[in-house]
Amino acid sequence: MTFKFTTIGSRLVAAFTCILLMICLVSTVAFTTWNTLENQVDLMIDENIPALKASYQIERSSAELQAYLNEIHTTQNLVRLNQLKLGLQNKINEIKQTTIELTTIPLVNSLRQEYHRLDADIQEYTEPLIQKLKLKQNLDKISETILWLHQDIVDEVNPLRQEVEWQITHDRAITLNAATQTALYTDFSTLQMLTINENELISLVQEVIRQHQQRNLNSAFQFIGYKTDEIQTLSNTLLHNAASITHRQLLLELIELVQPEGRLHTVLQQIATITKQTNSQEVMIKERLNYQQEQVKNLVTKASSELNGIKLKAKKTVSMGNGVLLIVLLFALFSSAFICTYFVRKRIVGRLNDLSLALNAVVAGEVSLPISVTGQDEIGKLGTNLRNFCSQMQQIEKTNALNLINNTQASIITCTTEGVIESMNSSAKELFALLSSSSVESEDIWNLFESKEHQQLKSIFFPNSTLLRDGAYNLTLAINHTHHQIRYFRLDLRVFQQNTHPKVIITLTDITEQENITRWLEQKVQEKTQSLTTTNAALQDEIEERKRAEFNLVATQDELIQAAKMAVVGQAMTTLAHELNQPLSALSTYIFTVQMTYDSNQYPDIHNTMEKMNEICERMDQIIANLRSFSKKPMVPNPAVIVGLQQAAENAIGIVAYRAKQHNIQLRNHLGDNCLCIGELIQIEQVLVNLFINSCDALAPFVDKQGKVEIIELSRTDQFIIIACCDNGSGFGCDIINQLFTPFTTTKEVGLGLGLSICRSIMTRLKGSIQLASTLDGGAMIVLEFPANETK
Ligand code: ADP
Repeated sequence: MTFKFTTIGSRLVAAFTCILLMICLVSTVAFTTWNTLENQVDLMIDENIPALKASYQIERSSAELQAYLNEIHTTQNLVRLNQLKLGLQNKINEIKQTTIELTTIPLVNSLRQEYHRLDADIQEYTEPLIQKLKLKQNLDKISETILWLHQDIVDEVNPLRQEVEWQITHDRAITLNAATQTALYTDFSTLQMLTINENELISLVQEVIRQHQQRNLNSAFQFIGYKTDEIQTLSNTLLHNAASITHRQLLLELIELVQPEGRLHTVLQQIATITKQTNSQEVMIKERLNYQQEQVKNLVTKASSELNGIKLKAKKTVSMGNGVLLIVLLFALFSSAFICTYFVRKRIVGRLNDLSLALNAVVAGEVSLPISVTGQDEIGKLGTNLRNFCSQMQQIEKTNALNLINNTQASIITCTTEGVIESMNSSAKELFALLSSSSVESEDIWNLFESKEHQQLKSIFFPNSTLLRDGAYNLTLAINHTHHQIRYFRLDLRVFQQNTHPKVIITLTDITEQENITRWLEQKVQEKTQSLTTTNAALQDEIEERKRAEFNLVATQDELIQAAKMAVVGQAMTTLAHELNQPLSALSTYIFTVQMTYDSNQYPDIHNTMEKMNEICERMDQIIANLRSFSKKPMVPNPAVIVGLQQAAENAIGIVAYRAKQHNIQLRNHLGDNCLCIGELIQIEQVLVNLFINSCDALAPFVDKQGKVEIIELSRTDQFIIIACCDNGSGFGCDIINQLFTPFTTTKEVGLGLGLSICRSIMTRLKGSIQLASTLDGGAMIVLEFPANETK
């Protein structure tokens, strides 16, 4: 396989290899940097920091050692000295412990050796110090003994002197011989001399004890020796004096103690020797400590400089690593930018976009558009392939279109948008009775049709015509075919794009048969419409006739209702006479009373009587008015209004009251004043009067039973209000109940059988209904449903 750098794949492989190399370089730099840093950190953690830590600890312990040594040198207390010795030991052990893990560092190791030696030196140093302290204690004891002896000598010499003084004074009186006197004087002066010399010796001894470190002991004790010899000599002169024996013994003890090579001299010499030894040891220890401090300082300096070195080295390594990384990063950024902008965006994405646009155009059928994508790589090859594909497609399309047009059964003509024929298939030529070999190309399409159609066809190809605007148009044309036979053609025109140029394809369909059928159907429809119009006119006449009949029926119904009313009024008239008779006779009685009172001039009573007369007249007027308004025949139907059913029932009760009274029947109105419906008062009254009369008629045979007729409200909704008229009679007979609304159905001897029928007509007119039912105890119940007053 040959590796060509011209393909995208090989370029991508090269780019990835480059990135891989950069990653390797970055990783190596990072690895080296981290490794170096790690080594340095290890060194720091393993050596420098512990060395620093150890040196600080050693420094602190050395300072404490120094303080102990200073104190140990000056302390006079043996217990404290032992404590300090122990403390020194501990401090040295502490230092040894601190350095135990750092023996690999040469400086620390030598320091450790130094501390071993210091330990030995301190051991050597403390022993003489203890000895020195013991000697000092001995010295103190000696100086104390000297002081006691001096005090004893002083205590002893005073009585001796007093005695010699007394003898001299007493001898003078008794006049002793000269020799005795001289002896006495000699004793006295010897005692004096002894006291002086002894005092001088004590002072000298004390001074030597005090300043034994600064003084030359041998010369001092030589001088003391002279003094003691002198005292010895003087003391010997007192041998004859028995009383001076204690004094002399004390002096002898003192001389033994302080004389050269005596106890004091020996102790002081020992102290001097040990002091010399300890001083030299102290100097040596101090020098060693100084040396050690110097070493510690060196250690700290070395550790610090090493740390600084590590820091500088780490800084250098990191900055070097950073530099390399920065260079690689910049290179990576530049190369990425270059790859993104030039290679990916321009050379790949840009060309792929161009290719995608070209592909979209091809998919949309634009196979003739130029494809600009070129090159040697995969995209370039795709572009070349697409170009080849488009040219092949163009070729195939052309061939297919021609094949399709020529081989199809349909008659097809293609032309320009100006109407110039470009192609015409054989089927179309056949339609126009042209020879298949004849050429009509480059002719105007309208020339194929009769001249009277030319204008219409030309207008189809005008600019902005429906065809060019909408892309489609159709029309039907008639052609005078051979033998003067008319044929109809349907032309379907469509605009299509051929190589970006708009063309028109015309499909011709011979629709002569359909057209003939359509025309025949149209004629049939016309004939049918004519006959229907005639029938419609006849029906209109019939409707008019029926309307007239209905009007007559309503009029007859009204007449019937009026007749029924008048029957009720007629029936009422006999009892009405009786009803009116009673108030009339009351009225004549009152008139007689008025005359009487007028004659007897009792005017104040007239007024009262006149009022009563007026009441009677009003009652009579009410009875007559009720009857009149009931019997009145409305000239025109009253409009539906809000009617109070309570009032209507009240008026109806007023009309039938006479009959109820005749048969001792109670008429009860249970409706409330809010019981409102939409209707006509007189007609509702008519219904209620009919129902009440029927109830009274049904109850009339029951002479030993209290007859009751009640009107009650059953229910109400927004649309309807339902009331019922109930009685306690025998109810409706089962055999007849279904025919009771049929006119002339009656069980009464004098009945017309029209009451319930009229009631139903009225209820239907009022847009309500009437139903027959039964009460719980078997009486009749007539349920009336009225349209409710919705506005309430
Ligand atoms: P008519 O009153 O002239 O008979 P209607 O149509 O008013 O005509 O009544 C028809 C019949 O219905 C009456 O003959 C009677 O048998 C019956 N009927 C009507 N109302 C009642 C009622 N409240 N109780 C019993 N039967 C009744």
